[in-house]
Amino acid sequence: MPDRPVVVVNARAVARLRAGHPWIYRSDVVSAEGAGPGALAEVKSERRRSLGTAFYSTASEIALRLLAPVKVENLAELVQKRVRGAVEYRRKVVRDTDAYRVVFSEADELPGLIVDRYNDVLVLEALTQATDDRELKHLVVAELAEQFAPAGIVERAEPRIRQLEQLPPSEGGLVYGNKTETVFSMNGVHFHQRALAGQKTGAFLDQRENYAAAAAYAHGEALDVFCYQGGFALHLARVCAQVTAVDSSRPALEQAEQNAVLNPGLPEIEWIEANAFDLLKDYAAAGRQYDTIVLDPPAFARSRRALQTALRGYKELNLRALKMLRPGGILVTCSCSYHVGEGEFVEMLASAAVDAHRSVRILEKRGQSKDHPVVLTIPETSYLKCVIVVVNN
Ligand code: SAH
Repeated sequence: MPDRPVVVVNARAVARLRAGHPWIYRSDVVSAEGAGPGALAEVKSERRRSLGTAFYSTASEIALRLLAPVKVENLAELVQKRVRGAVEYRRKVVRDTDAYRVVFSEADELPGLIVDRYNDVLVLEALTQATDDRELKHLVVAELAEQFAPAGIVERAEPRIRQLEQLPPSEGGLVYGNKTETVFSMNGVHFHQRALAGQKTGAFLDQRENYAAAAAYAHGEALDVFCYQGGFALHLARVCAQVTAVDSSRPALEQAEQNAVLNPGLPEIEWIEANAFDLLKDYAAAGRQYDTIVLDPPAFARSRRALQTALRGYKELNLRALKMLRPGGILVTCSCSYHVGEGEFVEMLASAAVDAHRSVRILEKRGQSKDHPVVLTIPETSYLKCVIVVVNN
């Protein structure tokens, strides 16, 4: 094995690692001589004490992502073990679905690697220079093939992420087997998966348990705002008399309609292409009322700086939704912005309730599904909030 580059880090980085966080920022790197893109580096303190082995990036502000607090002799063996561990964990905690996240980056001690399973098709994404390494990806693919015997494994490449990490443009594509499309189910609801299209790696698997939770309270006339391919809407349709679903993306709505066809016996869902802010404003002005409303917007705060603007956006949506709910109505309100904490989100909701003159009770404060593990010492692994409330009067 070639000599590993040594990256020396300052006391702040040492403290961070000691607190159980795997990231070291570039500003805390003292020297990184000979460390190229994606290098497997030995991390040392300024006193030359060994701190472990990490993936190095020449592009990211996160210069190092710790793999292990010890010297890693055999990377292939370690990666194989971590993938197996990730699979094993899902076998214990995932229920009622054949679609879930198999590997969630830092939360599975495989920083920079995402793997999702959709029934017999797996989708892999490398987010960093180190995990974009051909050999490493081969290794992961081989282990996944052994664990799942899938019909296909597809690599996805997000241009924005590749650009940030200074990786060459890539189309992604099939890397194993021959299947790129399939049908999967969550909580007994069926969906199409087209691994080479759509946002993220396909569906919003992190909401899976929240779909079931929402359906447990939903009733009457329902409105799913920011519906994407119909994750909430299709679950609501099983228990509600009428469902209207809104998104600004035509392709997402087309996919949603096809998903509806996969689930016969549901009441017809009305899919509307619109800007959610405009639509809520118009509907509220027209005096429309609902018994159940879901709000699941995209991340409004991509950085801490955007927090106040994001909270204003969330408040506008939640205020309008609360005003439109009948007494006894259910609001399922989500935020996938890591930078908006649960406390801030609940405070925003309280302020919206006050302005809407509604008395509101919290039924559940929820997060992401368990296949997106939250690591206690890595706050960034916890990002999704899903609060379910009932409007009292
Ligand atoms: N609830 C969905 C996920 C929503 S993701 C699920 O569970 O699968 C956010 C969605 O918001 C995307 O589909 C995106 O197209 C849509 N979107 C973004 N901005 C919007 C806007 N201003 N009005 C309506 N939809 C919007």
